[in-house]
Amino acid sequence: MTNGVKRAKLVPASDAPSNSSSSSSSAEMSTMAKNNSNKSNSKSTKKRKTFDPMAVTWMEKYSDQMEKIWSRLPNFVGSAIATCAIFLLGATMRGEWLLVVVHFAKHLGYGTVEKNGTSGEDETSASVDWAKISLENFYLQNLSWYWVAACSVSYTMYFAIGGFLHWYFYVRQRDKAEEWKCQPQKWITPELERHEIIIGTISLLLTSTFSACLACYISNGGPCSVYYKFDDYSWTWWFLSWPVIYIYLDYATYWLHRIYHTPWLYKHFHKLHHKYKQPTAFSVTAIHPVEILHIQICLCIPLFALPTHWVPYCTIAMYNYYHGIIDHSGINFKAYWWQPWQPDAIFHDNHHQYFHVNFGFNCFIWDKIHGTYRQKDRIYTEDTYYGKGKLISEATRNEIEADMEERDSENPLAYRDNKLIYKISKKELEGKKLE
Ligand SMILES: [Zn+2]
Ligand SMILES: [Zn+2]
Repeated sequence: MTNGVKRAKLVPASDAPSNSSSSSSSAEMSTMAKNNSNKSNSKSTKKRKTFDPMAVTWMEKYSDQMEKIWSRLPNFVGSAIATCAIFLLGATMRGEWLLVVVHFAKHLGYGTVEKNGTSGEDETSASVDWAKISLENFYLQNLSWYWVAACSVSYTMYFAIGGFLHWYFYVRQRDKAEEWKCQPQKWITPELERHEIIIGTISLLLTSTFSACLACYISNGGPCSVYYKFDDYSWTWWFLSWPVIYIYLDYATYWLHRIYHTPWLYKHFHKLHHKYKQPTAFSVTAIHPVEILHIQICLCIPLFALPTHWVPYCTIAMYNYYHGIIDHSGINFKAYWWQPWQPDAIFHDNHHQYFHVNFGFNCFIWDKIHGTYRQKDRIYTEDTYYGKGKLISEATRNEIEADMEERDSENPLAYRDNKLIYKISKKELEGKKLE
């Protein structure tokens, strides 16, 4: 992630021209949010009940106090903290950190089963007494500890870091949206923010439970193909396994995502994730529970199908989770020079704005190869399935007008050359056969 943060110019609010005469209070921020929303509903923001998932925006309440502390920090420290926060959130949100801890412990030799020894686990699998079936038979003894650890860290990070990022960008720099936001004129409504937090919270419970089971299973010596000693397989394979794992994880995610964009699966499952046309960091896990579990299961296949060293697998998984947050942040983050395969955040932001296009995540090449990369001469709506869109020359005038309005609402700073590369001038449009 680069330029985005730089472009976002993390100016303390005290230096920034404020919309109001005083520094922005939480009440004012809420008001701005409502004013900027397409369909704001004043009732829901005023009537806050005892339990309200929007309490995650508790940072708004303490915005002034936070600002006092923050304004003392040099800008680069602020940027570094925000970057670390995104990474931490990505690494911990679904409980995968526990898997990393377990792998690391095994690497250090804890819980390793000697190859020639007759371990208890081997005996249990040989003769299972079904009358006395227990978690131990599935290598899941002490699961409750893993589960409590995974869930408590997941929820703490989700609300604390998610709340911080919300404050850092969406509250603190709200009046400078054109400097950092992919869709600066459009904001997710408070109702949808609440919705994504509720769905995200439910999905977190499932994904953390799954991560806890997997970490517990591996920790207890459950059969898998992960190895820990560097010399268990050749060094050639160790180096080769990096691109193999990376490509598997990314290409599998591309296809899973694309399959969930076929009409039946889209309407019954994936549409839920597409309620957010302006995604935020909270949108990452706001996915139908069936879909998110399906994806999580598919992504652990290398742990059972390939001799996988834990270092490349965990590093790549963490990289992917980090970018999952970046891609959904709604902020104009851009890939570093050393990531020529990595699309900028606007790529997935486009996916949320235009629905059935740009299905990939950490390589844009899959969309290029399969013809699902966004094209300038095509329009994409929630009804144009399969990623190919509709030629402008075949679209109706209403469709074109709606699409042009969407294109104009994008931020040029979110693109590489700071130009709206998909913008079509009136002249260009007239050149096309409209009807
Ligand atoms: Zn999608
Ligand atoms: Zn998404």
